[in-house]
Amino acid sequence: MSNIHELPFLKEKLEELKAQGVYRKLPILEGPNEPEVVLNGRKVINLSSNNYLGFANHPRLKKAAIEAVEKYGVGAGAVRTIIGNMDIHEEMEALLAKFKREEAVMSFQSGFNCNAGAIQAITEAGDLIISDELNHASIIDGARLSKADKTIYKHNDMDHLEKVLKENRDKYRNILIITDGVFSMDGDIADLPNIAALAEKYDAMTYVDDAHGSGVLGESGRGTVDHFHLHGRIDFSIGTLSKAIGVIGGYVAGSRTAQDWLNHRGRPILFSTALPPAAVGAIIEAIKMLMETTEYTDRLWNNARYFKEKLGRLGFNTSNSQTPITPVIIGDEAKTMEFSRNLFNHGVFVSGIVFPTVPKGTGRVRCMVTAAHTEEQLDRAVAAFEKVGKEMGLI
Ligand SMILES: *Cc1c(COP(=O)(O)O)cnc(C)c1O
Repeated sequence: MSNIHELPFLKEKLEELKAQGVYRKLPILEGPNEPEVVLNGRKVINLSSNNYLGFANHPRLKKAAIEAVEKYGVGAGAVRTIIGNMDIHEEMEALLAKFKREEAVMSFQSGFNCNAGAIQAITEAGDLIISDELNHASIIDGARLSKADKTIYKHNDMDHLEKVLKENRDKYRNILIITDGVFSMDGDIADLPNIAALAEKYDAMTYVDDAHGSGVLGESGRGTVDHFHLHGRIDFSIGTLSKAIGVIGGYVAGSRTAQDWLNHRGRPILFSTALPPAAVGAIIEAIKMLMETTEYTDRLWNNARYFKEKLGRLGFNTSNSQTPITPVIIGDEAKTMEFSRNLFNHGVFVSGIVFPTVPKGTGRVRCMVTAAHTEEQLDRAVAAFEKVGKEMGLI
C-alpha cells in the first residue's frame, strides 16, 4: 500500500524532471550580490542579477536600512489596513509618486504580489483583459485571479492588438490592455506610444508592468512611461523595488483614485503584512539617490553599450535588445546549457535560458550588465565568451 505522506505522486514527477534533464539544485551564493561573487564555491563574474544599479549592497542603502531597523524594528507587525502602516510607508509612496511623476502610488510586498493583487482588483466579470503573449508569469497568474475574460495579442504586434480591440470593444464593459514595459527574455521595449493611442481610440485602459524598466529607462530610471513621455496616458504603471532599486517590493503608480481603490480592494494590502522597515528605509534612500543624479543609470547604460558592442564584434547574436538585458542567442537547448556551464568553468556566471521559458530553438544565455561592473571585469567576461565560443565553434 502506498503511503500518501511520502508524496509518491510528487516523487514520480521529480523523476520525470530528472529523465528530461531539467532537474536542478538552487545555486548557492556566499555573500552579497556583487559584480564578482562566490557561487557554488567558485569565484565568478556575475552576469545574471537584476541588481542593475549595484544598489543591493550599496553602503547608503545599508545605512538607511539599519537606521530604519533601529527606529522601527524588524517587522511591521500587521497588515497596513490594521496597524502595519507606518509613517515611512507613507513617506516612501509619496516619494515614489514624485519620482514617477504620477499622482499617487500604492506599494505591495513584491512585484509578483502587486500583479496578483492589482489586476483582479481593477477588473471584474463583463470586462476583458488583453495581454501581450510574452508577458511575465506574475501577470498571467494575476489575470487568472480576475473574473474578467482574457485574450492575448501577438508580441508587440499593434495590428493584432487593434484587431482584438475592434472585435471585442462592443462585447465588454471595460477593457484592460496589459504589457511588460521591457520584456525580460529579449530586452525589447513595448510599443507604448501606439498602445496608448490604440487604448484611447477604443476607450480601453492600460497597465504596464515595468519591472525591468524601473531604475533603467527614462530620466534617472523613472521607467518606460517616462522614456516615451506618456505621463497621464497610462492608467496603471507597475514597478518593482526588487530589481534595479535593489531591495524588495512592487507598486502601482497612477491616479489618486487607483491608489484609493487598491487600498480598499488590493488583497495583498488587506491580507499580507506590510513591507518591513529595513526595506522601506533602503527604498527611500535609493529613490533619493536617483533623484539626486543620473550617474547610476548613465553608468549602467555605458556598461551595457560597451559589453554589447564587444560581444557583437566577436560575432555573437545579441538579438534585438534595446536595454541592458543582453541575450546571446545560441539556439539549441543542450548547447545553450553547455555554453553556460563552460563559461562558469571559465569564471563567468550567466544563466542559460531555454524552452519552455523561451520558444524552442531560441536558447540563450542572458547577460545582465550592471552599473557596478568595472570595464576590467567586463573585458574578462568578454575574453571568456571568446574562448568558450571558439572552443564550441559558435563564433
Ligand atoms: C521580476 C518581475 C516581476 C516580479 O517582481 P518581484 O518584485 O521580483 O516579485 C514582475 N513582473 C515582471 C515583468 C518581472 O520581470
